Amino acid sequence: MTDRVAIVGGGWAGMAAAVTLACAARPVTVFEAAQVLGGRARRVVVDDRIVDNGQHLLLGAYAQTLALLRTVHGERAERELFDRRRLHLEEPGVFRFKTPALPAPWHLGVALLAMRGLPQRDRLATLAFVRRLRRGRFCCAPQLTVGTLLADQPALAVKLLWEPLCLAALNTPVDAASAQIFLNLLRVAFAVHAHDSDLLLPRVDLTALFPAAAAVHIAARGGEVRTEETVTRIAALGDSVAVTSHAGEERFAAAIIAVGPHQLAHVLAASAGSSATAALDQVATFAYEPIRTTYLQYGRALGLPQPMLKLDNDPGQWLFDRGQFGGAPGLAAVVISTDVAAARIDHDSLAHAIDAQLRRRAPDLPPPVWSQTIAERRATYACTADLARPAPGPLERRLYLAGDYTDPEFPATLEAATRSGVAAARQLLAAHV
Ligand SMILES: Cc1cc2nc3c(=O)[nH]c(=O)nc-3n(C[C@H](O)[C@H](O)[C@H](O)COP(=O)(O)OP(=O)(O)OC[C@H]3O[C@@H](n4cnc5c(N)ncnc54)[C@H](O)[C@@H]3O)c2cc1C
Repeated sequence: MTDRVAIVGGGWAGMAAAVTLACAARPVTVFEAAQVLGGRARRVVVDDRIVDNGQHLLLGAYAQTLALLRTVHGERAERELFDRRRLHLEEPGVFRFKTPALPAPWHLGVALLAMRGLPQRDRLATLAFVRRLRRGRFCCAPQLTVGTLLADQPALAVKLLWEPLCLAALNTPVDAASAQIFLNLLRVAFAVHAHDSDLLLPRVDLTALFPAAAAVHIAARGGEVRTEETVTRIAALGDSVAVTSHAGEERFAAAIIAVGPHQLAHVLAASAGSSATAALDQVATFAYEPIRTTYLQYGRALGLPQPMLKLDNDPGQWLFDRGQFGGAPGLAAVVISTDVAAARIDHDSLAHAIDAQLRRRAPDLPPPVWSQTIAERRATYACTADLARPAPGPLERRLYLAGDYTDPEFPATLEAATRSGVAAARQLLAAHV
């Protein structure tokens, strides 16, 4: 009888689970439907240019992800793979929020008091609000939305600070977004160590950052990673799990299903027991939010004061100067979170509108020599208040669940994905299946 574990899905959750098992000397086989590992955080090659399916940003608080990166790349991973900066959110001439080199929570308090673009009374009200949240241990009723949580906050603080933070972190509009998940993120980013709120910009593409290095690590420990192999069915039998793909049916000691929530029904439906059915029922209620990233290559360096700037939402929301963190000089990535009306246009028109937007702030920009928009329709599940979600771990004996949507604390992020993968793998190891 084999002790090999099947991992279905070579995204960050699946690869985190596979690395955890491989480190415990458990042989694994990863099945990934796509050509490239990484799922919703992967390398994309367009016109011989390497970009990502979307600009990603990590936080210093992504403890699980950073630990895995050290496992697969070595102790110097963080220094070599990221441009790390203290949190600095700025829309030039409109708003600035910058954390100083002070321990937590003083770095947050001083940053709030020194915010530019808000009158003093609004800054004081915002500081008092954050102190209240801290005293309440960043907890609130599960049915509260971010909009309700912010109901008595100054309108300018909501518009300039809280709304952009909520959209960037939860990819869900404030009126629907879960206040508790937003508070979880504020707590892990600001309440413990000052460096937890640092921004980490990847200097390599997202497949190289983790999944590809994880695959090498797994192969060195007797595991295998198969791309372009779609699993069509998983069935938990008494003494094994049957995994069916176009290559046929294979038996494994156990399986971890780490596909996206909208893909769960494709592999699970036929075999579902009661926990699996409950998970399927929960994901069936999910709504999804898109993220669009438009890349524009200019013929000269962008010369931005820092690698990431807030834009005026007309239509771009955030501008990343990829040339400042390992990309080609002059390569801009402009991100639009959620399904905003201004972005519901064809990709050429969107690139044109974003070029015009960048030109309004830098009229001497040369015309772009290349552009590409990548729209991820289901970038994340809509992180709405009081949404019932399955937990990472066992669905049935020998069958485990992982994926960003299963982490109880973080919104759909790389950290949620890696935490869920590690949690599922540890539970599987502890169950000795
Ligand atoms: C544009 C964009 C921007 C984002 N920005 C950020 C950010 O800045 N910071 C951040 O932390 N997070 C960000 N996220 C969220 C983050 O990328 C996701 O939360 C994370 O990648 C989800 O990982 P996962 O492994 O849970 O799921 P997925 O990445 O969806 O992985 C599932 C994998 O399973 C494979 N699969 C599905 N069905 C099968 C099958 N039947 N057989 C075999 N394989 C199958 C899929 O091909 C996929 O590779 C962003 C996401 C997007 C799309």
